[in-house]
Amino acid sequence: MTSRSELVEQLRTLGVERGGVLAVHTAFSEVRPVEGGPHGLIEALLETIGPEGTLVMPSMSDDDDRPFDVATTPCIGVGIVAETFRQMPGVLRSDNPHAFAAIGPHAAAITAPHPLEVPHGPDSPPGRLPNLHAQILLLGVGHDANTTIHVAENLAGVRYRQQYHVTIDRDGEWQRFEYGEVDHCCENFAKMDAWLDAGGKQRYGRVGQAEARLMRARDLISIASSHLAEDELVFLHASDCDECAAARASLLLAHE
Ligand SMILES: [Zn+2]
Repeated sequence: MTSRSELVEQLRTLGVERGGVLAVHTAFSEVRPVEGGPHGLIEALLETIGPEGTLVMPSMSDDDDRPFDVATTPCIGVGIVAETFRQMPGVLRSDNPHAFAAIGPHAAAITAPHPLEVPHGPDSPPGRLPNLHAQILLLGVGHDANTTIHVAENLAGVRYRQQYHVTIDRDGEWQRFEYGEVDHCCENFAKMDAWLDAGGKQRYGRVGQAEARLMRARDLISIASSHLAEDELVFLHASDCDECAAARASLLLAHE
């Protein structure tokens, strides 16, 4: 069992800044056991960044067939810590099926309205992180969970799309809203490790039982963008992956 004070010490040693903006993606099953469970981990994160810090977590719906309700729609798909966080007093959540949640001085700016059809563009919660000098913490998860890499894909103007839908409530009537999202299996986001390491832009450590990675959103987007500028398809599997094959097929359509 890792105590709260040990968690804070581990986070400080890793390089988490006091007073900064910290976006966290985590799988609690990798971190536990920790004092206080998921809530205890959140308290340790808040103690580390201090009252001037802003804590951010993904908070998106995993149900595309029901309208998103900012107060009640769960975000089970991104883990128990995120689901616990969104329900804590004072936490703001963006009113969007691609929601993020945040608490702290920059929380309102980060969770401001964002477009449905471009979930992770520059005008989105992860897209707002680089200008706030935000750090990103991956806790027991890899870069495949790192939503901010999609911001780099959007900024680079990649042309592949997956066809998705969400359900919206228009004056009590449910409507299906279809859109093309920049997406694929995301496994090749793992390439970021070597790219960040080559520039000395990623720190490694241990938090609870989990391997932790810490980087700046700005570095992540800058390095991903430079690789995407060289090869638009750098994150797509060449073969043996249905999702990446669908993304490649959409690119052929974009050429027509
Ligand atoms: Zn793939």
